[in-house]
Amino acid sequence: MWETLLNFIFPPHCPLCHAYVEERGLWCPHCLQETLKLQRLPLKVPMQKAIAEAWAFGVYRGGLQSIIKALKYRGRRSTLPYIDTLLRAGLADKQLGHILAAVDMAVAVPLYPAKEKQRGFNQAELIFKNFLQAADIPLTRQLVRLRTTVSMYQLSEQERRQNLKNAFAVTAAKAVTGKNILLVDDILTTGATLHECAKVLKAAGAGTIYALVLASDHR
Ligand SMILES: [Zn+2]
Repeated sequence: MWETLLNFIFPPHCPLCHAYVEERGLWCPHCLQETLKLQRLPLKVPMQKAIAEAWAFGVYRGGLQSIIKALKYRGRRSTLPYIDTLLRAGLADKQLGHILAAVDMAVAVPLYPAKEKQRGFNQAELIFKNFLQAADIPLTRQLVRLRTTVSMYQLSEQERRQNLKNAFAVTAAKAVTGKNILLVDDILTTGATLHECAKVLKAAGAGTIYALVLASDHR
């Protein structure tokens, strides 16, 4: 009843072109096809030691970039049903099947606690929560961020390493020993953050590490 009324007052629409769609959270087929670009990301040689494979659902530009920014910086949880639809379409793609079957648990790249408190959530956890539930993979908090790090866009390779050094730790090594882990994050740019998280998990005895992000600037 409420849903019917709501749909009458605010008809469900595609998040990008605003064409009417059947249900809230759905995209029009054209925009979904344009946005969902599931791809395996190239990793630099040092990263390949820690991360077996890294995948992104789309490119960090246009509509997907706006959706991520709206969630992350303006706290717009109304974007989540659209993200869910996109991830589920990716899940149906089967390319990720071997990874989802191989992992024991998922871990989101953690925020510094004060930052998470200020934002009210960890965006990576919100983004992947329903997807992981559908894939029957537990989302666990095996990593903590020990200090804040600065934005890495302007930094050199060496400054990046310094910036991330000792930034992460596992909460309990016993829980990750021998486990295959899916690291999730909202975006991958240099991959340095995911690499650092993977190294920390590996050092604690984790098995194979995979990385999955909503968007990457690789195209
Ligand atoms: Zn559309």
